[in-house]
Amino acid sequence: MRKELTKYLISMRARWRSVKDSLRNCLLNPCRNWRQRRLERARIPETQWRLTVARLPLLDGLNPAEQERLRDLATLFLREKTLEPAGGLGLELTPDMGPIIAAQACLPILNLGLDYYRGWRSVILYPAGFLAHHEYTDATGLVHRVHRPLIGEAWQRGPVILSWADLADPSHEAGLNVVIHEMAHKLDMLTGEANGLPPLHRTMAMQDWSRAFTAAYRSLRREVNWGRPTALDPYAADSPAEFFAVISEAFFEAPEVVADNYPDVYRQLQAFYRQDPLTRRASGRLPAAPGLPDPKSACG
Ligand SMILES: [Zn+2]
Repeated sequence: MRKELTKYLISMRARWRSVKDSLRNCLLNPCRNWRQRRLERARIPETQWRLTVARLPLLDGLNPAEQERLRDLATLFLREKTLEPAGGLGLELTPDMGPIIAAQACLPILNLGLDYYRGWRSVILYPAGFLAHHEYTDATGLVHRVHRPLIGEAWQRGPVILSWADLADPSHEAGLNVVIHEMAHKLDMLTGEANGLPPLHRTMAMQDWSRAFTAAYRSLRREVNWGRPTALDPYAADSPAEFFAVISEAFFEAPEVVADNYPDVYRQLQAFYRQDPLTRRASGRLPAAPGLPDPKSACG
């Protein structure tokens, strides 16, 4: 009798603990649970995910757990962002487009989480490069109208604009990735206007970031000004914001170029993205990048 009573009490205690955990989970993680439910309902189908991975060599070194996490993030990305073709240009969305964009977009936040892409919803797709029209007023009050060809653009608290031809080109040159470039701008914009300083983790020191990036940026600008060949796309010399976006592309697509030429920056990016693509490359099929070629056109 006593044995049975003890057994009963143990089972009641276990049941109460499970109810308590569920309640705590519901109250403390409503957002996580909501995302989990959405994820279970709409995960990118296995076949489509495999096709996506096969088209993107930069995903090759991910281990099975990372692959699954990226698939989950890409699924949620497609649920939370809208993908729309630019009006009147004849681009039709097909089922393969979303996963190809989302997989590349979510690689930088693989170990950060989708909250890093908060505050914006829309991805606008152009069939190819496009002409951007911008207007700005300088310090003297003079209004300038600028028109320049772009393959991608990220707006503060606004959409990300991408050229499908450039992001889907399976033979895109090593080191260039317009999706990662624009997503890096979005991460940078989390602290306000893009300036090359995304929100650093508590374990990182602002002085270390600043020292590494300032030295690398100045060195690249000198090389560009003197007309010397550069290890990075020279567009990175345009501003600290572009330097961060371009070197983020290279960090994922051609990590050895960043590690060899800017080892301090590589370590900072490794700490920020919480990833080590150089180690990943050893087990993947990424082609070794001898150096980065000039880009076809610029990213905003
Ligand atoms: Zn840019």
